[in-house]
Amino acid sequence: MRCIFCHEKAGFFKRICPDCIKLGQSVQELPPSFSFNDLLNGMMATGATQEKIEKFLEADPYQEGSLRNQVTARMTNEVMAGLGIPSDMDFKGVAQVRKDLSEGKLPSFEEQEIREISQLKDYHRKI
Ligand SMILES: [Zn+2]
Repeated sequence: MRCIFCHEKAGFFKRICPDCIKLGQSVQELPPSFSFNDLLNGMMATGATQEKIEKFLEADPYQEGSLRNQVTARMTNEVMAGLGIPSDMDFKGVAQVRKDLSEGKLPSFEEQEIREISQLKDYHRKI
């Protein structure tokens, strides 16, 4: 079977390969408010390759958002809260922004060009 995280061969009747099990354990050992650096340091300490760590960070086997997006969403909210701006960025928001940027589009919350009068209504609602 293939590993649900890195999609490499995990072995017979195994859903997660030994490397990803170690990576998962390193995440569970982190304090609740870990930084991205803590996360990477913990993962590198398992001896996993950079490539494996990248795959693990981007994997989304439970449709809960990849680890990278979950951590980015949490840190964005913490930074915004520190600035006094409530933010409810969740992993889906982060995933959408990253997707837009990778496709060369501006993030979807950017102002749209106004071409029709009906768009103005939406525009005012946002303000
Ligand atoms: Zn794996």
